[in-house]
Amino acid sequence: MSSAPRVVIIGAGIVGTNLADELLTLGWDDITVVEQGPLAMPGGSTSHAPGLVFQTNASKTLTLLARYTVTKLLSLQKDGQSCFNQVGGLEVATTPERWEELKRKHGYASSWGVEARLVSPPECLELYPLLNPALVLGGLHIPSDGLALAARAVQLLIERTSAAGVRYLGSTPVTGIERAGGRVTGVTTPAGTVPADVVVSCAGFWGVEIGAMVGLPIPLLPLAHQYVRTTPVPALAGRHAGPDGAGLPILRHQDQDLYFREHGDRYGIGYYGHRPMPVVASALGVTPATVDEHHMPSRLEFTPADFDPAWQESQALLPALQEAEVGDGFNGIFSFTPDGGALVGRAPDLDGFWVAEAVWVTHSAGVARSLAEVLTTGHSTIDLAECELSRFEEVQLSSSYVSETSQQNFVEIYDILHPHQPRESPRNLRVSPFHARQRELGAFFLEAGAWERPYWYEANAHLIAELPPEWQPVERDAWAQRYYSPVAAVEAWKTRTAVAMYDMTPLRRLEVSGPGAVDLLQRLSTGDVAKKPGAITYTLLLDEHGGIRSDVTVARLETDLFQVGANGPVDLAYLRREARQQCEADPTRWVQVRDITGGTCCIGLWGPRARDVVSAVSADDFTNDGLRYFRAKRASIGGIPVTAMRLSYVGELGWEIYTTADNGQRLWDVLWQAGQEHGVVAAGRTAFDALRLEKGYRSWGADMTTEHDPYEAGVGFAVKAGKQGFVGAEALEGRSEETAARRLRCLTVDDGTSVVLGKEPVFHDGQSVGYVTSAAFGYTVGRPVAYAYLPSGIGEGDAVEIEYFGRRVAATVASEPLHDPQMTRLRG
Ligand SMILES: Cc1cc2nc3c(=O)[nH]c(=O)nc-3n(C[C@H](O)[C@H](O)[C@H](O)COP(=O)(O)OP(=O)(O)OC[C@H]3O[C@@H](n4cnc5c(N)ncnc54)[C@H](O)[C@@H]3O)c2cc1C
Repeated sequence: MSSAPRVVIIGAGIVGTNLADELLTLGWDDITVVEQGPLAMPGGSTSHAPGLVFQTNASKTLTLLARYTVTKLLSLQKDGQSCFNQVGGLEVATTPERWEELKRKHGYASSWGVEARLVSPPECLELYPLLNPALVLGGLHIPSDGLALAARAVQLLIERTSAAGVRYLGSTPVTGIERAGGRVTGVTTPAGTVPADVVVSCAGFWGVEIGAMVGLPIPLLPLAHQYVRTTPVPALAGRHAGPDGAGLPILRHQDQDLYFREHGDRYGIGYYGHRPMPVVASALGVTPATVDEHHMPSRLEFTPADFDPAWQESQALLPALQEAEVGDGFNGIFSFTPDGGALVGRAPDLDGFWVAEAVWVTHSAGVARSLAEVLTTGHSTIDLAECELSRFEEVQLSSSYVSETSQQNFVEIYDILHPHQPRESPRNLRVSPFHARQRELGAFFLEAGAWERPYWYEANAHLIAELPPEWQPVERDAWAQRYYSPVAAVEAWKTRTAVAMYDMTPLRRLEVSGPGAVDLLQRLSTGDVAKKPGAITYTLLLDEHGGIRSDVTVARLETDLFQVGANGPVDLAYLRREARQQCEADPTRWVQVRDITGGTCCIGLWGPRARDVVSAVSADDFTNDGLRYFRAKRASIGGIPVTAMRLSYVGELGWEIYTTADNGQRLWDVLWQAGQEHGVVAAGRTAFDALRLEKGYRSWGADMTTEHDPYEAGVGFAVKAGKQGFVGAEALEGRSEETAARRLRCLTVDDGTSVVLGKEPVFHDGQSVGYVTSAAFGYTVGRPVAYAYLPSGIGEGDAVEIEYFGRRVAATVASEPLHDPQMTRLRG
């Protein structure tokens, strides 16, 4: 008998069927797929998906998921025909801004390993003779893109997995999820209960309804999206077309929110330029016993007026369409999310319940493969942080937030978006207690995790005139200049030469307490956190394969009380789950994990004059002996009870000073007043990011993810030598910086002026060898700094090139950290 868990997958769309297949491949064999529609055509989004697969995306994760999907669908064959028609993809630019965007996208393709070519207007015409030459300024051609035959793939997967023992229950809606003792035990259907140890909801845009069955908010919004087939187009007649009636590359005209494919002698046209049309999935009713191409729940009545502009623009780009008409149109439903990412992962508070939703056909097999890896081994080869179900803050889970942001995401889907561009609405959801003061100082806010975060303060602008010549910021190009101000140079200068106040409130803070607290943190982290109260440890949370799932600072405040500086909601969900399981296993070792972020706040007071400031308003001992580097203590500043931690992410003397939210504004005022005679400034994240890169401090999510181990990422020092038994320990055995095949390296730009922003490809001897993880202008070192993963053979002093908008920028691998390698400033 199989020892594999009993798995129930809800939904036989492209995601659910691929998941069954991938789980089988990885050795699980007790699988039931429950589908509310008829199996021959279930009636979800997959049943009508035109299947265009443009692989390249600013997200490395999404691009790799798409690459896998292409490979898999190519290999899925029957009667000599695969499920992917690799016609290639062509994206055209009709505006100069789009042409620049295509250059950036070409860079992403190089970074993530997708072969791509920027093509001139004549080459576009060669690839796609029906284009209007008067409109096209250039294009991006990706030969491996193409058309997924999604509905056919579903049928082949059902056939193949059924033959291997997967049970399919068609026309069977799941109406409830059975649970006992905090675990799923099965799913309820009108035909009875199907027992399960693991339930994975692959219900597509019905995900909200399934989530509601277990009280789990699913942040997706079903939206209708228009797709039409034209009447026959004379110019397409008799052309050589592939197995699914297409021979021309799939075509994107993002300047007008359009995409195109062939259906034999007709065109298929998709349009994102219309008004968002939200749908409530539960209002669609029960899926009928028979579904056909024209009658299925995911297909709503066409609204022709919404398509009028699309038709005009389509005829302008492809004049051959002037001899055709809009034929059969429909408004098809699929899922959008607040940040455009998929939703993949486990329910935080219900063991055994998983989700893989808001997944495009493009990423479907990749998501299925990755989730199957996580389920069977605890680790996905492709980092899934950007798709993680638990990545949203609580305030981002309200239905009004999900609705507004997902609709915005629909509107912007083909827009040219700057990497730092914040959403415009909703804003001011979460503000720190210093917000009023920050506004008085002219803070420029950007948003992350629904927090308003100052990037610089206009109040410091007058100091630009006082900047010494070596601190002067360089001129930036128009793209790098966006969401940037040279005032950041002043704030960096003041941090290194006087003192600055940084709002660190949005940093996630967790309180871990109870008799099992030390055991929990010792088991999950790479460091030794069982030091005496007052000690702080920078440590890593790894997955089973040694990949970095987070980096945290753990401050032991009392014997059974820790404060953990973490990276986000995913860390909270992880620690809570592990704590719950530890309590269940041994109630005497109970441990509680509380998120204290919202009720507390933090000022980073850093710079060589920081001690002068704090000692003017505190009788506590902040000398080197009174509070050493990486130590914490409770103190009073201006009569306000605080916890001070001697840490600095910017690499200067100073403290993270925590207090409760109610005391926050007064703490700010006290330090601000005391700092005046020492030249204090308020400083924002632009300076912060530059300073931390000069100091070589990694940012989780950008510089390290689950795809990297500590030695590759250059944080091997955070793995305590000789420590055993922590999650990931076995996987690290035998690994070291010497064995790492690639390393995160510090690059400095040779010309001292060419600023890059991140994700650009890095070349060595003409070959793409890596990509930029983080970048900033290093004000202290007077040149742009970038970090990049490079093969280990490329070391200090080696010359590389970073491609920025198609231009190669010369850079050199530098010895790191660039600033204060002896740590004299931090320990001073
Ligand atoms: C017009 C249009 C064009 C698109 N074009 C593209 C494209 O070109 N490229 C691309 O990559 N993507 C495209 N998409 C998106 C793509 O179609 C979807 O993202 C994808 O098909 C979703 O697959 P899925 O398996 O998650 O969901 P689905 O295919 O919707 O499958 C979910 C299944 O779950 C079942 N289910 C739901 N609730 C229950 C329940 N309670 N009990 C049992 N079963 C249940 C449903 O019946 C359904 O069959 C397009 C979407 C639309 C609408």
